[in-house]
Amino acid sequence: MHDVDIQKTLEQLLTKARDSWSLGDGFAVVVDTRLRGKAAGKAQRVRRGHYRISLNPELLAKHPSQVTDVLCHEMAHCIVFHLWPAEPPHGKTWKTVCQHLGGSAATTHQLALRPARRSRRFRYLTDCGIECWLGPIQHRRAMAGGTYKHRRSGKPLFYSGDCRWTD
Ligand SMILES: [Zn+2]
Repeated sequence: MHDVDIQKTLEQLLTKARDSWSLGDGFAVVVDTRLRGKAAGKAQRVRRGHYRISLNPELLAKHPSQVTDVLCHEMAHCIVFHLWPAEPPHGKTWKTVCQHLGGSAATTHQLALRPARRSRRFRYLTDCGIECWLGPIQHRRAMAGGTYKHRRSGKPLFYSGDCRWTD
């Protein structure tokens, strides 16, 4: 699904929502596609009356058929936050709103998303034992003969042989 279609779907859901509930002129929802991690979507209150839905770019790329359902799910959160702030996130009211918008009211979107990218850090030491962790690009350059110096002491760094994963 393209960004244009997402905006169009959002507009349609907003129109339907305005026709169904008295949301007031101050109610606004924006959508972006910058969500990282395993969740398909997320809804947040930005400030009074203003909400943001973030979609995972992997959802768009790998599961385009589910985008509308996830938008309904998140839009229902925005409406419930706005009108019934005391209601639980996936409670009865949320479910009714979500289904009215045309959503399935599934509470988890089982997307085989890639886990958040992990990267390696390589442990370097100066000859006097000052420790410094380099990233994979710097490590590859160092292994290819590049020299790295400890920033504060200016002393050359040598690979210790240790590395670890970061999340
Ligand atoms: Zn939810």
